[in-house]
Amino acid sequence: MAKGAKTENKQKKLAIDKDMCIGCGHCADSCPEVFKLSDESVAHVISQDFDKCGCDIEQIRSECPVGAIVWED
Ligand code: SF4
Repeated sequence: MAKGAKTENKQKKLAIDKDMCIGCGHCADSCPEVFKLSDESVAHVISQDFDKCGCDIEQIRSECPVGAIVWED
């Protein structure tokens, strides 16, 4: 196995594309430990500890109606 291959995803940061987010609230409802809606109804990532909350972040990501939950390097 290539060295570092397993940790590749851990170096990426979960983020919200704020221009795309329509504030539907699905991500914050699904995992309030990681996502929070601002007063302007835009989601924010409030924790990168998504390994600990036990939520399926990829599932939540795929359920965002506009694909606004992204991985950043
Ligand atoms: S699920 Fe997507 S559109 Fe809905 S609040 Fe979260 S990031 Fe925004």
